[in-house]
This record gives sequence, structure tokens and C-alpha cells, in this order.
Amino acid sequence: MSTQAIPIEKERKTTAKTMAAFVMHGIGKVGFMEKPLIEDPGPNGAIIKTTKALICTSDTHTVSGAIGDRKDLTLGHEGVGVVYKLGREVRGVKEGDRVAVNAITPCYKCENCLRGFPSQCTQMLGGWKFANIKDGVFAEYFHLNDAEANLALIPGSVSDEKAVYTSDMMSTGFMGAEHADIPIGGTVAIFAQGPVGLMATAGARLLGAGLIFAVESVPKRKELARHFGADLIVDFQQKDPVQTILNLTGGRGVDSSIEALGSESTLEACIQVTRPGGTISNIGYHGQGEYLRIPRAAWGVGMGDKTIRTGLCPGGRERMQRLLRLLETDRVDPTPLTTHTFKFGDIDRAFRMMSRKEDGIIKPLIVF
Ligand SMILES: [Zn+2]
Ligand SMILES: [Zn+2]
Repeated sequence: MSTQAIPIEKERKTTAKTMAAFVMHGIGKVGFMEKPLIEDPGPNGAIIKTTKALICTSDTHTVSGAIGDRKDLTLGHEGVGVVYKLGREVRGVKEGDRVAVNAITPCYKCENCLRGFPSQCTQMLGGWKFANIKDGVFAEYFHLNDAEANLALIPGSVSDEKAVYTSDMMSTGFMGAEHADIPIGGTVAIFAQGPVGLMATAGARLLGAGLIFAVESVPKRKELARHFGADLIVDFQQKDPVQTILNLTGGRGVDSSIEALGSESTLEACIQVTRPGGTISNIGYHGQGEYLRIPRAAWGVGMGDKTIRTGLCPGGRERMQRLLRLLETDRVDPTPLTTHTFKFGDIDRAFRMMSRKEDGIIKPLIVF
């Protein structure tokens, strides 16, 4: 055997590799930094090479201090990519696969997960790990815990840009409609048509709502609300939405309502427009104040059979596969929500625009 034929072990890099990440340095402070590339996914984890990501309004809430201070925490929880390294215990995916990852990545082993509430993994809201208790997805690579339960293969016909909407917007918006318990042919009022509200509208249509009211005043959002399935747009700057919805339902109110803003006034309005026996589904992130008020009389002084449901973006492979199926069969196309596209190197500009909601921005897509 000649020396040329002897397999030469590939050179091992001894210097630690780094990667670019977009981080929260502290409350109100964001920027790029170089972080060491994690080479070891751990037995059950995965390292994903990010291909596409979306900025969320909740990233801007985080930076303004809604969950307290963080030091150099990588932001972002909506991302898709390619499996770069996989833990030895992870089955069902392989390195190089295109995968979608939910914003919420529960362990699927703890008591709350086993009780059927994985978004509340270990503790309330504990399924929310990215850009909360661990680095998020606004980096060239990110680490995912409990990968077998949290990774979903992206079907070949589904683009990354579509798939990235399963991380949060589709899952949370559709949960809003699922939790609203809309009877087939029933009436539903959805307060606010930001990206999650718009996906709630799409979800209500998919679930068979008979009449969808969308409360919104921004022209582009009103137009998208119609596109995604709203029958009637109630512009709260032109008329009182509660009175309008009550009038248009013959004074009865709606079967279901969805709060998709995270403000006290819209939660109150939801309770007011929902008929007895109906359900108020909250998907808004109430980032301010100590208490939220419930309108006592409209709540039937506590005896109106009105249910208020809450939830946090459901994750997990099984749900992600169902959301991806909706994209594969073209039941819904979330990409009209992408109003702006930026390279990862310009994410600081995208983030500033998202914080100030400039130029009619709805979702900025980040391309890696
Ligand atoms: Zn989000
Ligand atoms: Zn858990």
C-alpha cells in the first residue's frame, strides 16, 4: 500500500470556531456579537444551521424589559434551518435535513408536559426557552433541546419562507381559533389583525367559522384580514367595535372571540361581545400593568357561562407536522405577512423598524 492510499485523518481545528449572533445586551440595548459555536449538541439535542428567521413583536417586548433584564442573550424564536449536528440519542432526523422548530421547545418529560400542557413545561410559560432562558435563533447556528420531540422535517415542496411561519405565527394564531371553540358556522370576533391575529383569522376560517369579524384600523392589515378570511372589518377608529358587533349580530353577540393584541381594552371588548356560553380566547401578550379588568356586568356578574381561555404557542413535532401539512396541501399561505426581507447582517435595521412598526411592517423575514 502506498503512503498516498493511507486515509489521512481530516485536520482537527484546535481553535474554537465562532459565529455571529444578534443579542440583547441589556434592557433597551441590542447588537451583534461573536459567540463560540457550540459543537456538542448533547445526547438529546441538535445544532441547527439557521436559514430563515422572522422577527416577532415579542422580541421587541423582551428587549424593552417585559421579562426582566438579560445579558448578551441571543434573540429570536422563529427560525428554520438545516440539522448541523445531532445528539446520539435523536431518532427520525439526520444531519443535513431541513427542519422546522417551534418557538416553544418543551422537554416532554416533566409533570406539566405529561399532564398535557407542554407550553407550561416545568413551570408556567416554561416551554418558552429560546431568547428567554437560552440563546435564541438569531445566530448562524442555534442549539435545540430535546430535538426528537421538537424537530419536524420540512416537506420538499414547502419553502423555508413558508415553513418559518409554523414556529409561532401559525401555531399561536391557529391556537387562538382552536381555543375559541368556534362552532361550525358560528360567529367569531377577532380583535387586532397583526400577524398573529391574521393567522387567527385564517385559523377560524379553516375551522369552519360562519362569520368572521376582524377589528382593525391599519389599511394594509384590513386588506390582509379580508385575504385571510374575514367577512366584515370593523374599524375601531370609525365606530365603536363592541356596539357594531352587537348590532350586526342582532344584539346576541358572537359565539367566540379572540384577543390578539394584549391590551386591557380589547380583552374587555372580547368579554362584552361574546354571548353567554361563548369562549374568549386570549393570544395577546399582556406585557404591561399589574392587573387586567373584567367587565363585571358583561361577564354575567361571574355567572354568564363565558369561558376565558389562555395558552402559549403549542410546539412539538406532531403539531409542527400538521401545520406543515397545511402548507404542503396549500390550505393556507402565510407569506403575504412578509412585508420586508433583510439579510442577517441587516437585522439591526429590521429590529429597529419592528420596534417602531415603521413602513407598515408586519413580518420582516431574515435571510441567512
Ligand atoms: Zn414570535
Ligand atoms: Zn416539560
